[in-house]
Amino acid sequence: MKKLLISGAKELDIQLSETQVEQFMKYKTLLQEWNQKMNLTAITEDREVITKHFLDCMTINKALNMSEQKTVIDIGTGAGFPGLVIKIAFPHLKVTLVDALKKRLTFLETVINELGLTDIECVHSRAEDLGKNKQYREGFDICASRAVANLAVLSEYTLPFVKVDGYLIALKGQKLDEELEQGQKAIKILGGQLEEVVHTGVPFTDLDHKIAKIKKVKSTDTKYPRKAGEPTKAPLGLS
Ligand code: SAM
Repeated sequence: MKKLLISGAKELDIQLSETQVEQFMKYKTLLQEWNQKMNLTAITEDREVITKHFLDCMTINKALNMSEQKTVIDIGTGAGFPGLVIKIAFPHLKVTLVDALKKRLTFLETVINELGLTDIECVHSRAEDLGKNKQYREGFDICASRAVANLAVLSEYTLPFVKVDGYLIALKGQKLDEELEQGQKAIKILGGQLEEVVHTGVPFTDLDHKIAKIKKVKSTDTKYPRKAGEPTKAPLGLS
């Protein structure tokens, strides 16, 4: 399993040290253990945790060189995907993990403590509430997110956190083109601009991913995000 992780990461231009590999292995074990008590993931087999979670999340490095970034926020991180994976793979980063479900945060805090990670924070909040908080608003180089909402909704959850000239990196599958069509207006309203769609495979799988790389080109109007629940009820640009 270690070899799979090391060579998969290498394909994504990431060199993992022994310490990092051990951290990933411990994370995998904790995920599998805690998953028996609470619903964290449907992916539990050793090989699949490595490919479909760890390597999948590391594909972000194909969209943006993560070694050159400083601050990352992951909205709707769940069991730490992609934010915690990014932190282990790029330990110099200052990472904030956000989720609306408290029990997931308890799991994440346990992993962080067991792995001895520093410069990583877990925040229990809905994106719509935290996005209004001055301490977090427009405070990050990168917002990374996977499997949280369609782009119209996701943009309202995430773009308020991104600094001007920073990026929203949305890890998506094959439906991205359709989502982009529907989400273009919302992205523009929120101060974003699609820079690139990055196609990437995930090592040792037949997964074919698309990553939306959205640049923040101007500050987000303070009326966004709207109050909790509104973005999903009436996605921007679609109503
Ligand atoms: N990103 C993880 C992954 O790829 O495995 C988790 C995906 S899970 C399908 C969606 C996560 O987003 C859940 O943990 C949920 O609690 C969180 N979430 C959904 N809407 C949210 C919101 N408005 N604010 C914060 N978290 C939210």
